[in-house]
Amino acid sequence: MSRKPSISFEFFPPKTEEGKNKLGRVCMALADMRPAFFSVTFGAGGTTQQGSLATVLSIQQLGQPVAPHLSCVGTSCAQLKEILLSYREHGIRRLVALRGDLPSGMGQYGELRYASQLVEFIREQTGDWFHIEVAAYPEIHPQASNPQSDLENFVRKIKSGANSAITQYLFSSDAYFRFIDDTQKLGVNVPIVPGIMPITNSHQILRFSENCGADIPRWIKQRLQSYGDDMESIREFSFEVVSNLCAQLLRGGAPGLHFYTLNKSEATLKICKELISQQLNIN
Ligand code: FAD
Repeated sequence: MSRKPSISFEFFPPKTEEGKNKLGRVCMALADMRPAFFSVTFGAGGTTQQGSLATVLSIQQLGQPVAPHLSCVGTSCAQLKEILLSYREHGIRRLVALRGDLPSGMGQYGELRYASQLVEFIREQTGDWFHIEVAAYPEIHPQASNPQSDLENFVRKIKSGANSAITQYLFSSDAYFRFIDDTQKLGVNVPIVPGIMPITNSHQILRFSENCGADIPRWIKQRLQSYGDDMESIREFSFEVVSNLCAQLLRGGAPGLHFYTLNKSEATLKICKELISQQLNIN
């Protein structure tokens, strides 16, 4: 493998002081892997948004490259503009642009309806200042009317000015490589980095996957359920499954890996070290 794959780690804004302190330690532990960036999720609603900015700045203060997520649901164009200008003033150069999901009880979509419109808006407001990442769904977005229109909507985001993409987490390298083939046939040549979820809690992953449309193969689900509360076996099995998946993706030509860390370092680091031991050149 000649080019170093791009590794990135995703965090969510911690709510408590303890969580904030812990995130600093997690960030520094993962920094050893020399990631391309740490990304920070964004939620619709005032306090969550403040939390995103504070987390972004705290990572920047640790001297690490950071990419805030920005979603357009529930956020007006005036607010989006304010956030963009604030990130630009702080010297942030990369964003993950999303539509987002409305939290239950929040009925308003905002002025922009789709992520492609947000990408256009960012380009209109700030030109080429930001490197823009968008989301991709090799296993189809759960609200898509059909697979072909979902693929075309993804292509629209790239044509609107996105530079690269990160996929929803997946456990099937076939779904990823099929998606790459399909997008290339439609003229997409930007890097599309697979999203990786190191499983640490089987109840949590089953619940998440139900909501976001990520497919957990039956054999993985059955094995996880059979371990019950035996966390040691869950960790061991998940490490093996997820590190094999990462190795397959990189060997097959994936341009990097984006880890959904859930603000923890242990499982992700263990996988990264395994990939290094297999000479996969990620560090
Ligand atoms: P879009 O690309 O706008 O697509 C949403 C749906 O609309 C799809 O079904 C698509 O096919 C359809 N669509 C798109 N354009 C059109 C059109 N012109 N006409 C008709 N239909 C159309 N959520 C958060 O709230 N905060 C985060 O920080 C966050 N980070 C994420 C990071 C990654 C890497 C990923 C993969 C997801 C993340 N999400 C986050 C979740 C994401 O917001 C949801 O999956 C959301 O439902 C879709 O966002 P999107 O940007 O993919 O939307």
